[in-house]
Amino acid sequence: METNDKESKKSAMNRRDFLQMGLRGAALVGLAGVSGYLIHKSTDDKLVWQIDPYKCQQCGRCATECVLNPSAVKAVHAYKMCGYCNFCSGYFIPNVKDFGTAAEKELCPTKAIQRTFIEEPYYKYDIKEDLCIGCAKCVKGCGAFGNGSFHLQIRHDVCVNCNQCNIAKACPAGAFVRLPAKDAYLLKNGWKKG
Ligand code: SF4
Ligand code: SF4
Ligand code: SF4
Repeated sequence: METNDKESKKSAMNRRDFLQMGLRGAALVGLAGVSGYLIHKSTDDKLVWQIDPYKCQQCGRCATECVLNPSAVKAVHAYKMCGYCNFCSGYFIPNVKDFGTAAEKELCPTKAIQRTFIEEPYYKYDIKEDLCIGCAKCVKGCGAFGNGSFHLQIRHDVCVNCNQCNIAKACPAGAFVRLPAKDAYLLKNGWKKG
């Protein structure tokens, strides 16, 4: 009996350790991708366009107004802010009856969000940027009921840095800013603006 108790405590600890490691790892993986871009651009002093995620109103024009098709704007995920929820309002359509993974329940029109089970009741949500068109539906959904961890950024490995960004002209929120290329992202990165 005592052995069983010890084993079940050990097993619970292992699950907790795995989950914490998984969440920490996810945060690092999410940031590693972006820091790669920062290093890549660190020698470049020119100005580039970027989106202030706290001004964006998720109007959808980032998907339709870019001179590129698909848009240079992509959804990114601030893993440190994410609740790893079973029900993710950035992933599922509203009023979904159950939280099983099925295409017709997904909010994303291009199936660009991958949902991965970690441990009950936690799931990890990753953006497949090659499929993302920057429509902001996931950003709107996450901001409405979740922690606001999904947000939009211009990817500088894709953007051609037009003199006058066509989306900036159309943006109703004035969310586009010019930044030095060496510091070209405005990531939420785990903190919420007050
Ligand atoms: S155009 Fe502006 S408000 Fe609309 S989704 Fe893009 S950044 Fe957000
Ligand atoms: S909902 Fe839109 S912005 Fe979000 S991942 Fe899918 S295509 Fe990208
Ligand atoms: S600068 Fe040009 S390529 Fe880059 S996001 Fe704006 S419209 Fe698209």
